[in-house]
Amino acid sequence: TGFIGGSVGGLGDMYAQIQRTIGASERVLEILDETSEVDVARKLNFKKAKGDIQFDKVGFAYPSRTDVTVLKELSLNVKAGEKVALVGHSGAGKSTIVQLLMKLYPINKGKISIDGVDIASQDVTELRSNIAIVPQEVMLFGGTIFENIAYGKPDATKEEVMEAARKANALEFIDVFPEKFETIVGERGVKLSGGQRQRVAIARAILKDPSILILDEATSALDSESEKLVQDALDELMKGRTTIIIAHRLATIRNVDMIYVLKDGGIAEAGKHEDLILKEEGIYANLVKLQFDNVNLLVE
Ligand code: ADP
Ligand code: MG
Repeated sequence: TGFIGGSVGGLGDMYAQIQRTIGASERVLEILDETSEVDVARKLNFKKAKGDIQFDKVGFAYPSRTDVTVLKELSLNVKAGEKVALVGHSGAGKSTIVQLLMKLYPINKGKISIDGVDIASQDVTELRSNIAIVPQEVMLFGGTIFENIAYGKPDATKEEVMEAARKANALEFIDVFPEKFETIVGERGVKLSGGQRQRVAIARAILKDPSILILDEATSALDSESEKLVQDALDELMKGRTTIIIAHRLATIRNVDMIYVLKDGGIAEAGKHEDLILKEEGIYANLVKLQFDNVNLLVE
């Protein structure tokens, strides 16, 4: 498989990370079970998606809680290459939307399509080969920096890994280590800062080269230098890719094409930042006000 040098402990880290990223669920483990299939998929040359995403009146309840409707006739439409943000309080359904797009659960009503094709009829491995996630809290597995980046494309060449690291603004810190890309990270190796781990995750995603990108924005602020390097790397990563940002800090989503405010299982408000802030008693407008009054407050 492509899990080069991934120790058992490393796999544990990855499980933990993915669970944190898309919410606790026994089924998320399936993603990792399919890792080796993804490698095969790459060799089979699965079709690269364009990246149009459509949720059409999606209704959903978790199989374990069928009495709680999480999404009610939720519709949204993201054109290939567009950047959208999902905003809403904890429990509003942001992570659920991402999980449904990854086909972790079947939906109860409506349809989710990528490039106009119902994902219910799509091969799950092919589907996931087109999506990369940059999680809130990046955990690396015990192994070298090289292995951690190459995880995005197990047959990557040294040049490809270096190029991805360069685009992710990671070279500048990797080059400082005597062992460079062979530096061991994780519990028994060098401890990277939050911003450095983020850049490794970005390099991994750049290497995977997905059409669809999910960014679960970091909730804890990085130091301002790291913040700028990470933001620049994210801007590079987002270029030309459909991007869904689960936004916690509203200041970072001013320029997205569309902001969706989730509430009560549906979309309560949708629009661009400059339109939404003008809405009197608007949910988004209020959240922005709150974040200005209390700089450290995060929208979950
Ligand atoms: P957000 O990411 O916006 O905080 P989630 O999508 O995680 O919200 O959760 C939406 C709703 O679904 C919440 O009421 C939450 O309690 C519920 N939920 C989330 N994951 C599960 C699960 N695996 N099983 C049952 N209910 C869940
Ligand atoms: Mg969530």
